[in-house]
Amino acid sequence: MITTYHRPKTMEEALALLTQTNTLPLGGGTLLSKPTTDPLTGAVSVAVVDLQALGLDSLRVNGNELQIGATCTLQSLLEADSCPTALKTALKLEAPLNIRNTATVAGTLVASDGRSTFAAMLLAMDAKIEIRSSTLESRTSNIGEFILTRPSGLVTSITIPLNVKTAFEFVSKTPADKPIVCAALAQWNSGRTRLTLGGYGKSPLLAMDGTEADGLETAARNAYHEANDEWASAEYRMDVAATLSKRALESIK
Ligand SMILES: Cc1cc2nc3c(=O)[nH]c(=O)nc-3n(C[C@H](O)[C@H](O)[C@H](O)COP(=O)(O)OP(=O)(O)OC[C@H]3O[C@@H](n4cnc5c(N)ncnc54)[C@H](O)[C@@H]3O)c2cc1C
Repeated sequence: MITTYHRPKTMEEALALLTQTNTLPLGGGTLLSKPTTDPLTGAVSVAVVDLQALGLDSLRVNGNELQIGATCTLQSLLEADSCPTALKTALKLEAPLNIRNTATVAGTLVASDGRSTFAAMLLAMDAKIEIRSSTLESRTSNIGEFILTRPSGLVTSITIPLNVKTAFEFVSKTPADKPIVCAALAQWNSGRTRLTLGGYGKSPLLAMDGTEADGLETAARNAYHEANDEWASAEYRMDVAATLSKRALESIK
């Protein structure tokens, strides 16, 4: 339950407030304002630091990269000309329109689990996450490290490469449902190929990061050999992951 609300106008002020106990950044608030306990910290009453006055909602193309401000909404990103088509597909599956209009990219990433299509696509694209701490230091984490360790600090931006070919394939119960299995693929001009799988577990899984695409289907199959839950068996997910990764590769050729 939110018991205290702050809306700082400067980054310095925000970071100072965030050093206080039980104080969390507020993005779109779609998750944070809902339950009586914060799902990530377990805190019963929390103070929130609303980020909306900090000007962190910009989208900037810098050369071959797109820098996405932390409070950019999922829908703003989806509607941006510079947003890759595969990422648009992943964003549509992440949440329905009303939530996409409010939820921020940082809040979504911080709260993501293995069924997050947005996190799966960012992981394939090897996104970089900029994080600020109370000492005002800025550091960059790669997405793989970020979703595994969930470091503390304020996410200020997410940067993705634009000079990569990308694909996103999925299987779900209905076209609008979150996938039971999804495959996100990114391929650089050098041949470097990253495949991630989603639809299961605590975070999306990096199935392959190779210098070329050889062995993609096998990597997909192997990565999900224990992906068993109430939604699907591991055998099913292994087969589907292999098929989706093949389809994703064919679509970028
Ligand atoms: C009706 C409804 C349906 C939903 N359906 C789904 C669903 O199907 N699947 C699903 O996964 N989720 C769902 N959600 C949850 C929610 O929409 C997502 O997790 C959402 O994308 C969170 O984004 P937000 O910006 O609103 O985050 P917030 O609620 O503001 O914050 C979420 C978490 O991220 C942290 N955070 C926010 N911004 C930052 C930052 N810049 N730096 C560091 N930490 C930060 C917060 O402190 C908090 O712990 C639903 C929510 C609602 C209300």
